[in-house]
Amino acid sequence: MSTKQFDVVVIGGGPGGYIAAIRAAQLGFNTACIDEWKNEKGGPAPGGTCTNVGCIPSKALLQSSEHFEHANHHFADHGISADNVRIDIKKMIGRKDTVVKQNNDGILYLFKKNKVTFFHGRGSFVAAKDGLYEIKAGEEVILAKHVVLATGSNARQLPGAAFDEELILSNDGALQIGKTSGEVPKKLGVIGSGVIGLEMGSVWRRLGAEVTVLEGLPTFLGAVDESVAKEAAKLFKKQGLKIELGVKIGEVAKSKDGVTVAYTDAKGAAQTLSVDKLIISIGRVPNTVGLNPEAVGLKLDERGAIVVDDECKTNLPNVWAVGDVVRGPMLAHKAEEEGVAVAERIAGQHGHVNFNTIPWVIYTSPEIAWVGRTEQQLKADGVEYKAGQFPFLANGRARALGDTQGFVKFLADAKTDEILGVHIIGPFASELISEAVVAMEFKASAEDIARICHAHPSLSEATKEAALAIDKRTLNF
Ligand code: FAD
Repeated sequence: MSTKQFDVVVIGGGPGGYIAAIRAAQLGFNTACIDEWKNEKGGPAPGGTCTNVGCIPSKALLQSSEHFEHANHHFADHGISADNVRIDIKKMIGRKDTVVKQNNDGILYLFKKNKVTFFHGRGSFVAAKDGLYEIKAGEEVILAKHVVLATGSNARQLPGAAFDEELILSNDGALQIGKTSGEVPKKLGVIGSGVIGLEMGSVWRRLGAEVTVLEGLPTFLGAVDESVAKEAAKLFKKQGLKIELGVKIGEVAKSKDGVTVAYTDAKGAAQTLSVDKLIISIGRVPNTVGLNPEAVGLKLDERGAIVVDDECKTNLPNVWAVGDVVRGPMLAHKAEEEGVAVAERIAGQHGHVNFNTIPWVIYTSPEIAWVGRTEQQLKADGVEYKAGQFPFLANGRARALGDTQGFVKFLADAKTDEILGVHIIGPFASELISEAVVAMEFKASAEDIARICHAHPSLSEATKEAALAIDKRTLNF
């Protein structure tokens, strides 16, 4: 039997896992983290989906494509001539890969700094013995008192359309388009109009592809506040992103020229879409492949997610699970919060995650961000509420930026004025939403925000004005 024994062993080095490992080490535990992700040279690449094929690379490409779009369409408004703007796709992808590597290296540095032992390879249960778990960590076998599972998720497959990452792409392939050819696809199809589909579709539309998004559901962005979803649909259409709702996907056929998708449209008519490449983004499934849950009797649900209680405890003593592999929203910051909370619970502290104040962001242009309940949810729950809205068109900073699309919307309890939800579509919504998250964590009222001094000129003044709008006393609109 191995002599290497740890207080805490984390399997999975994504945002849930690496953060859990660092927090556990900070709390004085002898901690190890096992992650199997490989970079192109076969070396370690901790950071999981988020760092390697998710949050970080998608934002790097969104940034590059936004610069390109600005140079092409918005510089002239500022008196800047930028004729014949071209983009070197290989260089853009190379920059994205560099950003990813910086993040991988950063995590390896953080492991060293915090004295977390890192194992590069697969982590799987071998057995449970004498209050300890025997775990295969790459080529070694180690022992753990506590185990934190953070094995993440994989892209959901569409039956009959296996990912080949050349023509039929998951998020992995979508982030590598043009890496070898240097070309932007002329026509790009996206199945699924969720966050990932819209973000990836936006990147390639800005770079010149004709993008068509096919969505099975009859409503666009069903989880988003209806007024925000309506505004987003209008703006995306104006940008040239084609979105067809209520479709039923039929056969997906590959040819040497690309991919053809047969589908039935919302009116029941048979249609086909022929594209150079097809991204399939129809959700993600929890990943426990390679974990060998049977060896220790770890309980999974019918979706393959690890079953946990409110505190991320599994059915096994001292085995915890966090992030995409358990219930709840598949978001990096939710995974991180659970990772911290679990490490603190192992230390006997009261780690906690408030699911009601987890912010959501879609990094399209304009960005969409929200926290708390939507207006349609409040109606369905029979809650009496007041609503206030303020357009960025009336915000001086937004006008100076040349980015006046969208609005901030506040929803507050009709009697107590407590903020129940804040919904933003517009410039830097991803940053602006933090104020609303803090306010809701502190159970603030809309009046609290309305009375706080916000810097001028700043986009955050739109947040204050939306709070003022609750009582119909906006000052600039
Ligand atoms: P993961 O990040 O998936 O990490 C799991 C890790 O465990 C991986 O490194 C995997 O290799 C490793 N692993 C699995 N099994 C084993 C094993 N048996 N042994 C060893 N290692 C193993 N979320 C946001 O909040 N904001 C965003 O902007 C955002 N953008 C996204 C964009 C895209 C294109 C995608 C696909 C996702 C995006 N997400 C975003 C979601 C986010 O990436 C996930 O919610 C997050 O990565 C989940 O973290 P995790 O730690 O649970 O799992």
